[in-house]
Amino acid sequence: MTLAPSSTFPLQFELTPSQDAREEAEREVILSDPGFGKHFTDHMVQIDWTIDAGWHAASVIPYGPIQLDPSAAVLHYAQEIFEGLKAYRHADGSIWTFRPEKNAERLQRSARRLALPELATEDFVESLKQLIAVDGGWVPSAPETSLYIRPFMIANESFLGVRPSQRVAYYVIASPAGAYFTGGVAPVSIWLSTEYSRAGRGGTGAAKCGGNYAASLLPQQEAYENGCAQVLFLDGETGEHIDELGGMNVFFVHRGDKLVTPRLTGAILEGITRDSIIQLALDRGLTVEERDVTVDEWREGIASGEITEVFACGTAAVITPISALKSPDGTIGDENAPAGEFTMSIRQELTDIQYGRIEDRHGWLTRLG
Ligand SMILES: *Cc1c(COP(=O)(O)O)cnc(C)c1O
Repeated sequence: MTLAPSSTFPLQFELTPSQDAREEAEREVILSDPGFGKHFTDHMVQIDWTIDAGWHAASVIPYGPIQLDPSAAVLHYAQEIFEGLKAYRHADGSIWTFRPEKNAERLQRSARRLALPELATEDFVESLKQLIAVDGGWVPSAPETSLYIRPFMIANESFLGVRPSQRVAYYVIASPAGAYFTGGVAPVSIWLSTEYSRAGRGGTGAAKCGGNYAASLLPQQEAYENGCAQVLFLDGETGEHIDELGGMNVFFVHRGDKLVTPRLTGAILEGITRDSIIQLALDRGLTVEERDVTVDEWREGIASGEITEVFACGTAAVITPISALKSPDGTIGDENAPAGEFTMSIRQELTDIQYGRIEDRHGWLTRLG
């Protein structure tokens, strides 16, 4: 089967306004304390795809339940992929997003791996603009808040046979997000999963698909039970190299202005935050190494003082300092260690760019509204 691109390009969107959109006062109450992933805006985007017609029927419709036949392929074989990015309100009221073409390209790569149809970058970015055009009022303005945007694609053909779905739908929903760290950026301890892997060679580790997350929930639970916020996965092949956390990439700051992060092996999700941090570090004149990193190197590096800081990164939390790695074999690092200086300054720089507080010298921002 060949995966047809959009049949009409670029797509034209049709708007069906919601009849029960929240009043401004109600929206403001939600935006004053949005939490994360709890509240959703009044509309969503839907674009349909069939093997015969390609992408078509692009629309902005009232937010609400999706009807699926119980035999819909996604419910049985997890043919699903997603993205995550944010809309930021700048001081002048304008609304921007960060490197959306990177998300579009990653969605295309995920689609290829999951045998789903690719959505053109222009249509992806337009889908974000279309949603913000009606729901821009949902982008909060308090410091470090944003509107989290979740594009996703599901196989919705009613068919129990095992083959790529011949009917697919792409959606975009959005959810206001409060500041991730309310009492200041707090370092976390993470749990080393020795029993479970997130991805294997030739598997779906590099695709942003729901199935990877389903597989991470049990080890994530183990992390919680051990007082840790996140789980760290090793590579599935040798169990020696550090891959990443359940939903974030990891970095090590070395003495002497060096940044080290696991290389993209095909089992690691290529984070856009990761890529941006590498660029900002290079701009600062740091040496950046993308290579294999072992738990032994982490242990020895902390003991010798070679590794001075460790942090995780991803769109939702931006950068989270890691104070310690816990496992049945003991703890590496100091659980009570404060956030490192480089960690905090690179976090500041990245968020300053995203919120328009400093110059966007790499042209990373796209205006949405
Ligand atoms: C989304 C995701 C990341 C972070 O990617 P960003 O583009 O930086 O948000 C890292 N790891 C996994 C497994 C992810 O799903």
